[in-house]
Amino acid sequence: MSIDPTVRLATKVIHAGQRPDPVTGAVMPPISVSSTYAQESPGVHKGFEYSRSHNPTRYALERMVAHLEGTGISEEYDPSCGAFAFSSGLAAIGTCLELLDSGSHMVAMDDLYGGTNRLFSRVRARSQGLKIAYADLTDESRLRAAMTAETKMVWVETPTNPNLKLADLSMISRVAKGVNKECILVCDNTFASPIIQRPLEHGFDVVMHSSTKYLNGHSDVVGGLLATNDPQVCAQLRFLQNAIGSVMGPFDAYLTLRGIKTLDIRMQRHAQSAMKIAQWLESHAAVERVVYPGLPSHPQHAIAKRQMNGFGGMITIYLKGGLDEARRMLENVRIFALAESLGGVESLIEHPAIMTHASLSPDTRRMLGISDTMVRLSIGIEDADDLIADLEHGLAAARKTTAASGPQRTQKV
Ligand SMILES: *Cc1c(COP(=O)(O)O)cnc(C)c1O
Repeated sequence: MSIDPTVRLATKVIHAGQRPDPVTGAVMPPISVSSTYAQESPGVHKGFEYSRSHNPTRYALERMVAHLEGTGISEEYDPSCGAFAFSSGLAAIGTCLELLDSGSHMVAMDDLYGGTNRLFSRVRARSQGLKIAYADLTDESRLRAAMTAETKMVWVETPTNPNLKLADLSMISRVAKGVNKECILVCDNTFASPIIQRPLEHGFDVVMHSSTKYLNGHSDVVGGLLATNDPQVCAQLRFLQNAIGSVMGPFDAYLTLRGIKTLDIRMQRHAQSAMKIAQWLESHAAVERVVYPGLPSHPQHAIAKRQMNGFGGMITIYLKGGLDEARRMLENVRIFALAESLGGVESLIEHPAIMTHASLSPDTRRMLGISDTMVRLSIGIEDADDLIADLEHGLAAARKTTAASGPQRTQKV
């Protein structure tokens, strides 16, 4: 460890796992693009042989994330302290699944990121024979019903997308480890970031991130990370990262590390603005319902207060009316970009039923409450009052009838 592990996260995001470059004293790690490293004598080298296996820029990012998630694994034990960077969030998930033998039983949250569900159900159920029991893990009795003594992994997301459902991480680890203490518990922490929630502290074994979202935070890198506090899982992941090879490149690692320097102040602004906007939306006449973990109206607000340090930057709303109202709102915002993804400095707005969750069947969408009036907001770090004015403009347009002034076009449903 390069810094005192008890310093606060706002200090860690700048310094954790970092040290000046030994050759030049450079404060930021050089982007080490070399694929290979010269050896003095066969097998005698400085710890770097080939960049799939070892890369100093990637290590700098991995050590940072290891410290933020609190792996507690020393650099003597593992050169990147138990965190591993991949070319995308899904590449990280794919490598994590390789911890399991073929035919293993796993339990997964029913409300998962669509791409995770696709990898589980349409790829690994076939190619790896995984037996996956999906359950609503917000409900302890359903977790108990899904778990068996043979369950090898539990996969959780909290908050979920787009419903912002919360899973009680301490409850899940207590119940799952009670049934099988060898079971590996994984939490996709993408929506919260380590500033807001640290699953390893609640008894989880592995944290996964799509660093494409809040960790990088600038909508200019696709990447993924895993972090573990279990020395055995750490050794397996180190082997698998190299054996499978879906590693993050040095330039992406550099950009992500640069993004993380502002993670603490970004998350504070995201959460502060999201709270203000959620409260404003809740009193707006054009809005049927607002889902935000920081509002007392959120059904799991008590879990949010216990488990999260701040409530994040994602808000889901249901508009009054139907698809036409939703379309008009989405077409009439100017600061919010109508786009998929989340977690960047710029505010984004999207329509889950037509955009991010279009691949689900209409029945599944209905079951998950993804209706035609549902709109998802990723609150950026712009001025919150400007964002409110922009949403007001969109909501006013949503309420106008087709007879209203201005150009109208016929919407195809
Ligand atoms: C985006 C996302 C992923 C997938 O990550 P990619 O970087 O797009 O491969 C996984 N989980 C969650 C919650 C996400 O939002």
